[in-house]
Amino acid sequence: MNKFMTDKLGRPLRDLRISVTDRCNFRCRYCMPPEIFDKNFKFLPKKEILTFEEITRVSNILAERAGIKKLRITGGEPMMRHNVSRLISMLNEIDNINDIAMTTNGALLPGHTEGLKQAGLNRVTISLDSLNDEKFRYINGRDISVSKVLDGIEAAEDAGLQVKINMVVKRGMNEEDILPMARHFKDSKIILRFIEYMDVGNANGWKLDHVVSKKEIFSIINKELPIEPADPNYTGEVADRFVFKDNGNEIGIISSVTDAFCSTCSRARLSADGKLVTCLFASGGHDLRDILRSDADDEEVAEHIRQIWEKRDDQYSAERLKHTDKKQIRKIEMSHIGG
Ligand code: SAM
Ligand code: SF4
Ligand code: SF4
Repeated sequence: MNKFMTDKLGRPLRDLRISVTDRCNFRCRYCMPPEIFDKNFKFLPKKEILTFEEITRVSNILAERAGIKKLRITGGEPMMRHNVSRLISMLNEIDNINDIAMTTNGALLPGHTEGLKQAGLNRVTISLDSLNDEKFRYINGRDISVSKVLDGIEAAEDAGLQVKINMVVKRGMNEEDILPMARHFKDSKIILRFIEYMDVGNANGWKLDHVVSKKEIFSIINKELPIEPADPNYTGEVADRFVFKDNGNEIGIISSVTDAFCSTCSRARLSADGKLVTCLFASGGHDLRDILRSDADDEEVAEHIRQIWEKRDDQYSAERLKHTDKKQIRKIEMSHIGG
């Protein structure tokens, strides 16, 4: 595999998002609706889930031969995977990997953040969709209070992890929480990012009407807390950055629906059961587990991945409006690939 391999649209493979479990302690209604992900739901059995050694091997191959530098651990809820900090320390040993991040709902962080930091975790993105306790308990489908997530945020900061907050905005669910969230984080070191509600998976009954656009989110904030655009930090950054005019602190909006960023998308996703997924909206992934569990050497695994990447022509968001008129196509659930 050569370091500069690109897909059919000329996009390199730069970062890898690793889902370490399909289980979650939350049942966010837009992601794992409790009626579907109930006690009869069949989660992956242990033997089908990649081991830490297998995950590390894939990451090492991609770092060595494709030049990836960034890894993100996600889920399901990554803190549900037993001893996830051991995985982080294994990934941290890989030459060339200079940034390891985690996306988490934050509720299980207290008591673990020091260990995660020591293992080599640099950053956490914590998801929080409302500061209103009653509403948050409803959204997460498990009656978990906001204070649990706020404790997780505090623990992450105390351990010296860089913290960002992601808030998915869904019309009728939490658009009135945009301003309280912006006010809450405005004077802190934490960057809050709003995410347009996306049509990932089929379980959440997504409709275009549910989307609160980047434009609308911008104007809700800007009316009370004036903000202005800031330059991206790097090519391919998914969030549009803004700064508050009065204190220069940053806030972001991720507009996968109304302003797609497929042309610079250089991410691959590895599902907990070892599928390489080349787009968040793909209907399936490319199995790596079989080749990892065969007697193939690293060179052969690398070649297999190269062939997958070179065939990649995904640009679902850029073409979304073509798809919404049609009968829904089957897509992988968010809880399988972790955002
Ligand atoms: N459980 C962890 C968490 O919630 O942070 C990691 C996995 S979760 C699938 C990753 C991110 O995807 C979360 O920030 C979540 O809010 C977001 N997400 C889930 N479903 C979404 C959707 N339909 N549209 C936009 N974001 C979504
Ligand atoms: Fe769990 Fe994250 Fe999905 Fe919520 S968004 S159900 S916390 S995986
Ligand atoms: Fe990347 Fe697919 Fe999202 Fe486009 S729709 S930015 S190709 S993950």
